[in-house]
Amino acid sequence: MFTESDEIRIVTETIRQAGREKIAPVAATTDATGELDRDVLTLLWDLGLMTMVFPPEHGGPEQNKGTLLCVAVEEIARHCASSALMLIIQAVGSFPLLHGGSPELLARILPRIVKNRELAAYLVSEPGAGSDVSALRTTAVRDGADYILNGTKCFSTNGPVASYYTVLARTSDKGRNGLTFFLVERDTPGLTVGKIERKLGQRGSKTSEMYLDGVRVPVANVLGEVDKGFLLAMQDFDMSRPAIGAQALGIAEGAFEQMVKHSKERKTFGQALCEHQMIQQIIADSATKIEAARGLIYRAAAQFDNGQRNTKLASMGKLFASDAAMQITTDAIQVFGGYGYMQDYPVERMFRDAKLTQIFEGANQIQRLVIAREILKETA
Ligand SMILES: Cc1cc2nc3c(=O)[nH]c(=O)nc-3n(C[C@H](O)[C@H](O)[C@H](O)COP(=O)(O)OP(=O)(O)OC[C@H]3O[C@@H](n4cnc5c(N)ncnc54)[C@H](O)[C@@H]3O)c2cc1C
Repeated sequence: MFTESDEIRIVTETIRQAGREKIAPVAATTDATGELDRDVLTLLWDLGLMTMVFPPEHGGPEQNKGTLLCVAVEEIARHCASSALMLIIQAVGSFPLLHGGSPELLARILPRIVKNRELAAYLVSEPGAGSDVSALRTTAVRDGADYILNGTKCFSTNGPVASYYTVLARTSDKGRNGLTFFLVERDTPGLTVGKIERKLGQRGSKTSEMYLDGVRVPVANVLGEVDKGFLLAMQDFDMSRPAIGAQALGIAEGAFEQMVKHSKERKTFGQALCEHQMIQQIIADSATKIEAARGLIYRAAAQFDNGQRNTKLASMGKLFASDAAMQITTDAIQVFGGYGYMQDYPVERMFRDAKLTQIFEGANQIQRLVIAREILKETA
């Protein structure tokens, strides 16, 4: 961990132990069945991890929310990326509500979310608008004291299982400056679950299309200012990108541990694999990337916690850690040889899980654009 306060050390130890004892044993089954383990979800709530970014009176920590979220995600992703994704989507999906909901709305809904252990989903991406959020076509039209939402969302993590959805919709014809977030609750007429996706990795999480067909919500469900939703989404990224980086870091650490263990056990040409210099190079490069990723991620999270602008470091952490995770999981399979290609060993699953970290919360090409833009701004 980059920061070593007592609070963070205690939380890390608690989650590390829970990860080892309760999450690791069911990770392969979670992947194989595509169903998150019920006991694991209960454990994530019991440990307070599902409310990590909530206000203290609703189960969140007093401070260091961004860092603690990363710690929790990293420790769980060492064993099961799908379970770690539950923490991320709960934080990402709740962000527009927590930072844009009126005090009345928060007072009404937060106690219920915590009491019933409700799951969040974040409905931004559309078939025609992924990287380019300004191309978004879901509409929200004012009708008296309500807004009426129409459109199709895709790749919605938790779509089929969430109880509340933060939905970005077009409220005026001004590109990215015409978007607004709304809170839509599960039983609202017109909100339906579409196709459930079959995925390469992180299979324990449910991903689906979502249809909004004349969904009527009161004006009180507007999150933040009308037409300012894009800004809220960008602020959400400042929290979520370090968390995705932490997920990638955890996956990389899990694969690295397996790689080193196997390299000590397996013999070729009369020597343990780890005695061969080319294998040592893989071990050294992987360990170096892990340390570098950790440094970037926790610096970005610390800036977020201190209220500093962290957009550049958040993108760097997400970019570097996810590329590192892809490389390290690929190399872990190489060190395992043919065995690494088989589902009997966890590195095969970690390799599949790592790929998503290069794609979601802004694909890595977009992270590079963001980093370059920030640097050009700094040097203008
Ligand atoms: C499993 C999964 C879960 C997801 N969960 C959610 C969720 O909960 N909520 C949600 O809203 N979204 C979610 N997403 C969507 C995700 O954020 C998008 O897939 C991602 O932003 C990329 O958008 P896209 O798939 O439309 O790709 P596109 O935008 O079509 O991009 C395709 C490729 O082109 C590259 N590219 C695009 N524009 C440029 C450019 N200007 N310069 C260079 N390269 C470029 C991209 O980097 C990418 O590699 C999820 C996606 C997946 C796969």
